[in-house]
Amino acid sequence: MIFKSDINYRKQALVKLLISIQSQEEAILKALYDDFKKPAFESVFSETSYILAELNHTINNIHKWAKPTLVLPSLLNFPSTDFIYKEPYGKVLIIAPWNYPFQLVLSPMIAAIAAGNQVVVKPSELTPNTSRIVAKIISETFDKNHVECIEGGVEVTQHLLAQRWDYIFFTGSVVVGKIVAKAAAENLTPVTLELGGKNPCIVDAKANLKLAAKRIVWGKFLNAGQTCIASDYILVHQKAKAKFIDYLKEEITIAYTENPETSPDFPRIINEKNWKRLVALLENETILFGGKINAQDCYIAPTLLDESGQESLVMQEEIFGPLLPVLSFETEEDLQRIVSKYEKPLSLYVFSENNAFAKKIIQQYSFGGGCINDTVVHFANKRLPFGGVGHSGIGAYHGRFAFDTFSHHKSIVKKANWLDLPFRYAPYKGKINLIKYILKWFS
Ligand code: NAD
Repeated sequence: MIFKSDINYRKQALVKLLISIQSQEEAILKALYDDFKKPAFESVFSETSYILAELNHTINNIHKWAKPTLVLPSLLNFPSTDFIYKEPYGKVLIIAPWNYPFQLVLSPMIAAIAAGNQVVVKPSELTPNTSRIVAKIISETFDKNHVECIEGGVEVTQHLLAQRWDYIFFTGSVVVGKIVAKAAAENLTPVTLELGGKNPCIVDAKANLKLAAKRIVWGKFLNAGQTCIASDYILVHQKAKAKFIDYLKEEITIAYTENPETSPDFPRIINEKNWKRLVALLENETILFGGKINAQDCYIAPTLLDESGQESLVMQEEIFGPLLPVLSFETEEDLQRIVSKYEKPLSLYVFSENNAFAKKIIQQYSFGGGCINDTVVHFANKRLPFGGVGHSGIGAYHGRFAFDTFSHHKSIVKKANWLDLPFRYAPYKGKINLIKYILKWFS
């Protein structure tokens, strides 16, 4: 298994992948459009160019990341040199969802390859066109014993999970995340779980309301709201609510016209099952804006809902679609009551020109990651680890963090033989104070 030990081999494999993606970009964009009318701009932005940038970053840094890291030794071990070796786990399984069906297969796969693993990827069955082209690219680029793509649905995933792996990387829902964690526990296989949750978006009275509306509308309705880090619901200060809603309506219309159904920039819901699930969430809700649906095309307009109650269906589960409840708050206790009702979310956003308020919010709540005065864009920085906490996930990736995720960190102390300090050896009589002193000052 040359990829285990030869970093140049891994690098060349990634270069081959880069060339293959560049040469098939048009076909990838078409597959994404055929799957759910994903606009070419969004596909370039969030799928192909994103992956090409991740590939370039990895190719440029692979030698640095793979090198054993020298760390300061403990004086207790004097004389020694201490290292952390990055060892591939071995056989890695990557299971991906449908919502960013190219990016979410390729991004962890690149890191797993860079770290020297043998990789099997399982794309989502709900985006068959993208799954097919991912399988084609992989089979054309890699040796089957190095990287393999296995297509299929739930049964295929269950079959894969029944096998023994050295690492499992799963992106998807909380419900399936638990199934994966249970299967992994059978063999004590380490996992990364990239899951979802109800992401609050807090808008303070002291926010730049117009800009906040523009950034929230973009981050929410991108991919028709089918984004794990999209704002799930808004909490706007009572005093700013009316004006803010006007801005939200204005920004939706600017982005997608009066009739988003005819806009080339607004995708569709992935399938009938999810469309029906989302339409059911509209029942008994007060629609402030949008609300138009079309079953034939799995279309749901960008929709604003007014003050959805905590007991309403839409406030029970992750929405994962173009419905945006706008709730209001007056005090920080109101915020606390609503945000804390849910499991720790994958993201949280706060809009405020009051730095102290924004800082307080990001420190007060536990969540995977987020932004002050924007939404979603923390995903784009390779120097930030991306992942959830609690029910929104275990572990993180992107850039160097991804390389580390797919590597076992093996600690090595290399002892020199020219000196052998005697204090740790038996007989211990008379050495207790010396060991206390050494542990206190030199460990
Ligand atoms: P999902 O959990 O239904 O499916 C994900 C994968 O699991 C698919 O490949 C599917 O084949 C497989 N699967 C489905 N049911 C299974 C079962 N019973 N047993 C074994 N395998 C099974 O998720 P989805 O609908 O594809 O994606 C949407 C979810 O993913 C949302 O909850 C979203 O928040 C989350 N998500 C999270 C991230 C992240 O980075 N944290 C990114 C994208 C999506």
